[in-house]
Amino acid sequence: MQVITLGTGSPIPDPLRAGPATLVRAGGRDLLFDCGRAVLMRAAAVGTGPMSFHTVFLTHRHSDHITDLNDVITMQWVMTPGPTPLHIVGPVGTQKLVDNTLTMLAEDMGYRIDHHESLQYEPTVEVTEVTDGLVSDDGGVRITVAPTDHSPVRPTVGYRIEADGKAVVIAGDTVPCEGLDRLCAGADLYVQTVVRDSVVKMIPAPRLQDVLDYHSSITQAGETAQRNGVKTLVMTHPVPGVAPGTEQEWIDEAAAVFDGEVALANDLDTFTL
Ligand SMILES: [Zn+2]
Repeated sequence: MQVITLGTGSPIPDPLRAGPATLVRAGGRDLLFDCGRAVLMRAAAVGTGPMSFHTVFLTHRHSDHITDLNDVITMQWVMTPGPTPLHIVGPVGTQKLVDNTLTMLAEDMGYRIDHHESLQYEPTVEVTEVTDGLVSDDGGVRITVAPTDHSPVRPTVGYRIEADGKAVVIAGDTVPCEGLDRLCAGADLYVQTVVRDSVVKMIPAPRLQDVLDYHSSITQAGETAQRNGVKTLVMTHPVPGVAPGTEQEWIDEAAAVFDGEVALANDLDTFTL
């Protein structure tokens, strides 16, 4: 199994970090988690793309995690040679999001259907809304979901992917909570979006202070990993941006409460299990 951090950014535009998106390669499948800014550019960099995505999973509907969902839908529709369902799994509200996205794309779909004789059908998107428990278990890949806590954003979920005797957790945006603990129990790799609260607190911007109460701090991510016997913590979506030369400080802050391996992910980092 492989985990590739396609995009490790936050909502703030960063020339080196695409929006939140993580690729999990398991059982010969490409599983995409979230669709942030430039997800398809980063996917192309590792030789995959909308035609190859087995399933697209969403953790929640904050804009930075779904900005390029429309691109994924459009390009999967245009690039596949015949009507092919795009499978999207997400929290309750995902069907509405997809319906609204298709409404937004209606004119574009019309242009392309009018122009391409071989494209006389609209995108086929199959949505499964999930809350808690088993999502799927086939082809040697078992995926479970649990509710997370990113209040007041509701609902939000995290995922656990098990294959080849290994377990990976894609947590999304969340503070520590019971659902996250269940996902992380004994996991080999835990990918968590983080804020560095010690730095954020020094920045006099009220809107930035607001992010503190609904994301895991580095310390909280480390504590979640420690409490649940995780082997490797992968921090992503760093807020604020990582000042050059301070990378080790982020890692040390997690390592102060967690005995396992810690990584601060960059775009296109690959973790092989
Ligand atoms: Zn969020």
